[in-house]
Amino acid sequence: MDHVKSLRCLICGRTYAPDEVEYVCPHHGNEGILDVEYDYELIARRLNPDRLARDSDPTIWRYRPLLPVRPDSPVPPLTVGGTPLYRADRLAEALGLRHVWVKDDGRLPTASFKDRASAIAVVKGRERGAEVITTASTGNAAAALAGLCASVGQRNVIFVPQSAPPAKIAQLLVYGSTVLLVRGTYDDAFELCLKAAQAFGWYNRNTGYNPYMSEGKKTASFEICEQLGWDAPDRIFVPVGDGCIIGGIHKGLKDLLALGWIDRMPKLMGVQAAGSAALYDAWRSGTAALDMQPIAAYTVADSISAGLPRDRIKALAAVRETDGAYV
Ligand SMILES: *Cc1c(COP(=O)(O)O)cnc(C)c1O
Ligand SMILES: [Zn+2]
Repeated sequence: MDHVKSLRCLICGRTYAPDEVEYVCPHHGNEGILDVEYDYELIARRLNPDRLARDSDPTIWRYRPLLPVRPDSPVPPLTVGGTPLYRADRLAEALGLRHVWVKDDGRLPTASFKDRASAIAVVKGRERGAEVITTASTGNAAAALAGLCASVGQRNVIFVPQSAPPAKIAQLLVYGSTVLLVRGTYDDAFELCLKAAQAFGWYNRNTGYNPYMSEGKKTASFEICEQLGWDAPDRIFVPVGDGCIIGGIHKGLKDLLALGWIDRMPKLMGVQAAGSAALYDAWRSGTAALDMQPIAAYTVADSISAGLPRDRIKALAAVRETDGAYV
């Protein structure tokens, strides 16, 4: 992984070699989320838009030199990535806009965006020779990890709060996961998952904790820009719960800008449900990510329900640094 320079703590700015720390900056408990820093000069010698145009692989692995995995690591066989970007002309007209596109990540193997991150988790877990890969989740992140693990016969253990919807638990069981129902909340499940991973040496995929999940999610911005002929859109609207997707989209755009493959940064627009608007509130009131307090989130959109978004540092930076907005 000579193309990965370091992991930088987004709280204190300390940097670590990629093999020095596994997940978070040791100075802030579980909160010290890390950002992966790359050697763009080296990457530019390995990959460029012309080379991509000649590559027939439609999956996220076409961007492998920009991903935090070893060049020779085997990847899951499922087609993760290469989802359609549809022109939505009638929608554009109804909104009084000239161009609107819709990126359909419901087409990914387990039917959500989370496959982009879980594909990376499976590769990282296997690079480390982990016997088990684990996560805590109430929904799509668990399904994605379970599905991607199933595709390579990788053992996995999923911690879910006992209140999780039975249909989502059924999906995990169909994929052959070991599912542990935790008597408690999502946060209790998260804590138990961390402790089990530490005690048993399992590889941990948790959102807002494992620094490589944003790196998987950033592949959507690579695809969007490549599908638009490297002409970056003005704005990208992203549904936001924990904030890992919007943080990842931002990271991908920063990569492309640093490489000179796009020439401007789109404004990022975070979309939250009215009943789960912690990041919207923080953005409006100018609150720093570390000063945010948990809210009682309630929304029927269960995939974006988050009382204290785990990836709030990256999620607020995505909107503030691009002069975007939360709605
Ligand atoms: C996870 C998820 C989101 C939100 O992603 P975050 O990284 O938690 O902000 C939005 N929509 C769907 C369908 C999801 O599964
Ligand atoms: Zn730190």
